[in-house]
Amino acid sequence: MNILKSGWFSEVSDLWPGLALSLKVEEVLHSERSQFQEILVIKTKAHGRALILDGAIQCTEKDEFSYHEMISYLPLCSHPKPKDVLIVGGGDGGAAREIAKHPDVERITLVDIDDRVIEVCKEYLPRLSLGFSNPKVTVFVGDGFEFLRNHLGEFDVIITDSSPAEHLFKQPYYELLRASLKPNGIIASQAGTAWESMQQVQSTFQHCKTVFPVATYAVTAVPTYPTGQIGFVLGSLDSRTNFAEPMRIFSDEDLDQMEMKYYNDKVHRAAFILPRFVEKELQVA
Ligand code: SAM
Repeated sequence: MNILKSGWFSEVSDLWPGLALSLKVEEVLHSERSQFQEILVIKTKAHGRALILDGAIQCTEKDEFSYHEMISYLPLCSHPKPKDVLIVGGGDGGAAREIAKHPDVERITLVDIDDRVIEVCKEYLPRLSLGFSNPKVTVFVGDGFEFLRNHLGEFDVIITDSSPAEHLFKQPYYELLRASLKPNGIIASQAGTAWESMQQVQSTFQHCKTVFPVATYAVTAVPTYPTGQIGFVLGSLDSRTNFAEPMRIFSDEDLDQMEMKYYNDKVHRAAFILPRFVEKELQVA
């Protein structure tokens, strides 16, 4: 294997051509080819353990909290009472761990296509996969698209925490998301970085905008994602939703108790303030 020879893992992908983040590898903890993807877990010098799927970094122990808190709490705090939450993907357990902390959330359903990701994360990334042991969480193994077809009108919030599977980034998926929400429901999906994947950001945002009366794009900093920044599209069925102003505000004491390290109401508002070039490309100015 290449990384063993060089001692570095480099994230080379056509999604961000000509640019690659590298992590110094101390040990390869696990490597397998599942039915769906290449699964790799490495111990890195700078960022603790890292989960890599098909050559793309999914999360590292040092910075995963930014991504998981933000993909969870931007939508949760924009909903008046998020009781039923669905996660599509999220096989590392990080989003489930965060969502379970929200006091209004009663049930979390997680559907990931690859049970091997779940099992490998249980073994090698216990700080993330502890999400699975929360009694609020029920796990299904299967395709998120198929799962939604059989669960119409069931969820207050649906979070797509998936690696770029083609059909989860197309308009029919957004139509299915809308159909699987309860009235006034909200969705959030990982949507790539405007620095290197503007086309992906634009098309994901367009699908969301075509289907939902309110749609927007927000960003957060994650050092080990390409360019150090990742975006989310958010959509609401309630035309009164103002994503940039959280409905639920947790105090500092609450957030300490919930062991949250990144999210608060100020960070929430700031996530929706976009640079001029992004506003122009997405026509959200
Ligand atoms: N934060 C991550 C990133 O870097 O984009 C996503 C992490 S999570 C591990 C991604 C998960 O999506 C994987 O476990 C993968 O198996 C799952 N996935 C991919 N396609 C899927 C589908 N069609 N339905 C359900 N889960 C899917």
